[in-house]
Amino acid sequence: MTELSEILFNQTVAYFSMEVAVNPAIPTYSGGLGMLAGDSLRAAADLSIPMVGISLLHRKGYFRQHLDAWGNQSESPAVWSPEDLLHPLPNRASVSIEGRDVQIRAWRYLIRGLSGHAIPIYFLDTALPENSPWDQTLTDNLYGGDDHYRFCQEVILGLGGYAMLREIGCAEVYTYHMNEGHSALLSLALLEERHRTNGLKQVTVADREAVRQRCVFTTHTPVPAGIDKFPYYMVRGVLGEEPTAVLNSIECFYEGSLNMTNLALLFSRYINGVSMRHEEISRGMFPNYPISSITNGVHALTWTSQPFQQLFDRHIPQWCRDNLYLRYAISIPLDEIKEAHAQSKQRLLAEVQKRTGVALSPQAMTMGFARRAAEYKRADLLFSDLERLKRIASQVGPIQIIYGGKAHPRDEGGKEAIRRVFQAAAALGDAVPVLYLEEYDMALAKHLCAGVDLWLNTPLKPDEASGTSGMKASLNGVPSLSVLDGWWVEGHVEGFTGWSVGNAWGSESDPSKEIASLYDKLEYVILPMFYERPQAYAEVMRSSIALNGSFYNAQRMMFQYMENAYQAEKPERAGYAAPTCALAQEEAPLAG
Ligand SMILES: *Cc1c(COP(=O)(O)O)cnc(C)c1O
Repeated sequence: MTELSEILFNQTVAYFSMEVAVNPAIPTYSGGLGMLAGDSLRAAADLSIPMVGISLLHRKGYFRQHLDAWGNQSESPAVWSPEDLLHPLPNRASVSIEGRDVQIRAWRYLIRGLSGHAIPIYFLDTALPENSPWDQTLTDNLYGGDDHYRFCQEVILGLGGYAMLREIGCAEVYTYHMNEGHSALLSLALLEERHRTNGLKQVTVADREAVRQRCVFTTHTPVPAGIDKFPYYMVRGVLGEEPTAVLNSIECFYEGSLNMTNLALLFSRYINGVSMRHEEISRGMFPNYPISSITNGVHALTWTSQPFQQLFDRHIPQWCRDNLYLRYAISIPLDEIKEAHAQSKQRLLAEVQKRTGVALSPQAMTMGFARRAAEYKRADLLFSDLERLKRIASQVGPIQIIYGGKAHPRDEGGKEAIRRVFQAAAALGDAVPVLYLEEYDMALAKHLCAGVDLWLNTPLKPDEASGTSGMKASLNGVPSLSVLDGWWVEGHVEGFTGWSVGNAWGSESDPSKEIASLYDKLEYVILPMFYERPQAYAEVMRSSIALNGSFYNAQRMMFQYMENAYQAEKPERAGYAAPTCALAQEEAPLAG
């Protein structure tokens, strides 16, 4: 693997992300975006890709979630101790915010890959005595504060991150990868760098092109409302006259606001969405840009439960080094799949009992639903018709459901969604036990995605850019029952990797059809198979590992980033047409 990555490219990639989940003890993430960043860097370390990560320290974490008996969420800071887990660097960088010089230091965390290659992640921190009390809080809260606070954080991440890399001496960075638009100001840092060396008064087209050749952008936002926008007066107040004038001269302001996605799009040589469907949606949103897709993947070793790790080690010992071998899971005896799953389920139920005191049944069909509690995820779609759900459970076979997920502290819709799950749970009583676990995080996700019998996902189309928890489930032989959006459009093979909710036609949801489909699949297909034909159910479990575990992993994803995004000298980009596969084949005999 080392050789391969050296052949593919030899220049460092700097990966910028507002959130990153490196370790269950470091609460610097809110959900899928941070998981993806962590999984990308873990896979890059396994593949010995020269890479560094940049994020903010988030001393107060995302938050701790408390739920009362009615499902009302309250929050407290998730304070943690960087001193115990990270290595402080002596380097100092600074950025100018509202004319003040804000000092930044960095804490380093090393991710070590399978063969020992280490990838450093630099967590930026402004809690230094030389900064004003307010500036010291700028790296405290992930997605906390108002727009002004957020914009200042994005200045720290984009401009400060760039400055810190220079201080640390990461001069060999050639490609800057912006994981979502929060770090897009780094393009301004790259422009300013050229200003300094060329002494230019005005940014030229050549400057823009030179910066564009160094940046790669991954968009994650299929809805315009999700994009960060900052008003002109705020940008000018924070950045000052000159940088604002530069941004203005290159038309980064739309309708009076700096749109971070647009800024990233303008300055990236390669742009991708995170699933095939998301590419389509993004092209509709940004028709002037060439957008491709690299579908997300999850880090196989991180998300595979211990019983399945041991099973794979016995049958396909190469699986961890080369995840493609998971395709060979197709020949693992069904009884061993069932046994590994029974163990994962038992571990989950023990964890649930430890947390809640409730002993769920190891025999009952156990469904899992957990992710950020955002409204579009429709956590309560399953509860649209409680009478029908009760009838299915009493006539076809028992059902129990485990929920988890935090709502953003200011997201009233998300908080309401949690309350609705609690209301449904109360109304269902013992007929269908429903538990909502507090504090959904990386550690709980690992138990939950591996230990349930069916992973449920019912987002409103087309709002799910990819989704990754169903991928974690498939590595553990847990099939999905999901709306055909995000990754499931391509990962779904009916009856082999799981089941669809509704059909694939049209990219918009039709709730009444989806609800009917959800209940029909449970009543007539999934539950009868689970209870009456357990071997058939185990076959679906096994093929979901072979088909989806082998592909929707972060190793395949990072190969695709290397091949499509990180190589700076791709011939297509220099204006040549790449040879087609047909041509290459025709020429092969001549070459021989
Ligand atoms: C994987 C994961 C997510 C992302 O879930 P989606 O299915 O992509 O929405 C969110 N939170 C945690 C803690 C996770 O582990």
